[in-house]
Amino acid sequence: MPTWDYAPAPESTDIVSIRDTYGLFIGGEWVEPTSKHYSKTINPATEEVLAAVSVAGEQDVERAVEGARKAFGTWSAIRPADRAKYLFRIARVMQERARELAVLETMNGGKPIRESRDVDVPLAAAHFFYYAGWADKLEYAFPGRRAEPLGVAAQVIPWNFPLLMLAWKIAPALAAGNTVVLKPAETTPLTALMWATICEEVELPPGVVNIVTGAGATGAALVRHPDLDKVAFTGSTEVGKEIQRAIAGTKVHLTLELGGKAANIVFEDAALDQAVEGVVNGIFFNQGHVCCAGSRLLVQESVAERLLGKLKRRLGTLRLGDPLDKNTDIGAINSRAQLDKIKSLVDSGVDEGADMYQAPCELPAQGFWFPPTVFTGVSQSHRIATEEIFGPVLSVLTFRTPQEAIDKANNTPYGLSAGVWTEKGSRILWMADRLRAGVVWANTFNRFDPASAFGGYKESGFGREGGPQGLSSYLRLTEP
Ligand code: NDP
Repeated sequence: MPTWDYAPAPESTDIVSIRDTYGLFIGGEWVEPTSKHYSKTINPATEEVLAAVSVAGEQDVERAVEGARKAFGTWSAIRPADRAKYLFRIARVMQERARELAVLETMNGGKPIRESRDVDVPLAAAHFFYYAGWADKLEYAFPGRRAEPLGVAAQVIPWNFPLLMLAWKIAPALAAGNTVVLKPAETTPLTALMWATICEEVELPPGVVNIVTGAGATGAALVRHPDLDKVAFTGSTEVGKEIQRAIAGTKVHLTLELGGKAANIVFEDAALDQAVEGVVNGIFFNQGHVCCAGSRLLVQESVAERLLGKLKRRLGTLRLGDPLDKNTDIGAINSRAQLDKIKSLVDSGVDEGADMYQAPCELPAQGFWFPPTVFTGVSQSHRIATEEIFGPVLSVLTFRTPQEAIDKANNTPYGLSAGVWTEKGSRILWMADRLRAGVVWANTFNRFDPASAFGGYKESGFGREGGPQGLSSYLRLTEP
């Protein structure tokens, strides 16, 4: 079969202007960290330093929570329709500055520009539009209940969808009348800081949104602050548990969106070519840095060989490389630490006896990269079948009956998402009833919509984001 080289199609970075140094965004102003401590944030595809970012210490966190507390009085008291106007303005400016946000997201996080441009940024704006719509309609969202904001929310987000996670957290919180202090992940703070300039542009009242950058210690100081009403966290199960322990027994409301080890289940009657696309999207989207990634493929034994043949062929067409190139499918791994974690879990798969297949591709010399990888001959006890790898690594298991598929899919401490591929509607419903997962996709995978709630069971956390459910996590609902 003839093959053609693609001409390079790099997105220009001219549109983005990155400051050399970023302060903290507190009380509507850019302030120096009292610690006078900065850390460098890099482009993981090139290891080039992009900027120096403040490391907020306890005093800075104190200032930010104070700022949010002070702003809460006015923000919660303004007419809900006016709150909506601010959110609509934010959403519109995000659309206007979409290219800038997408390029910066890709530079700082390593994800392909195709994804930041077509998924992350539009979805983030859509969340602000969606929750803007609810801001003055809370009595319709929760009929017969009185809805009041909780107060000050501390929000800690991870590095895999920096701007989108910001939107998932901030949009419902503000729509409900809360004020927030957000801590982005250490490796990907830049779009949150750029987004703070959007808050300035729309003249959001000072202190309604505060952004403190830093590493885990900053997050720990924030979630332990005594003057909070709500903590919302997305990240690892380990840190989620730590936060839950730290605030146990206090009045603070908590939602946790943690890890996952989703099963993507393909039955013999599925449209196999479509299923292959769904499997690829399920695990290789965003280099597999996705909490709801379909990292375990469960395929019915009768079609396993055919499906795997198609999957390997498809893997050969995935293009790994410059994330800013519009033809790129697989970008860079987010950090060296994450690359090391992926490598060590992949080594464990080989050591435990699974068969590894890697797509033939050349890895760039600079930056952090890992080729799309598929393990067959995986048993349920292997670490690669139980632990979250958070990288482009798929573990394949087989099943014979629907019940066996359910048993294997549910055999995990997690319960975030699952996928079912079959042409039978009745089987989809039968499976969805039995899968212990917060989201079940049918004949598709990794689909998100602001109107649709997302969240987990078991060690994947609790609480929902998106839809009216996401709003209720930021409200005190009482009898009128
Ligand atoms: P973490 O859970 O450590 O990070 C998530 C966020 O929490 C980051 O902003 C982090 O800051 C912050 N944080 C870290 N420690 C604390 C703490 N003690 N108290 C409060 N906040 C804290 O995830 P990692 O980045 O270390 O990734 C590790 C693994 O977690 C991944 O390999 C993956 O398996 C899983 N993960 C799951 C995600 C999901 O969406 N469910 C998202 C990210 C990771 P900082 O980054 O600055 O250290």
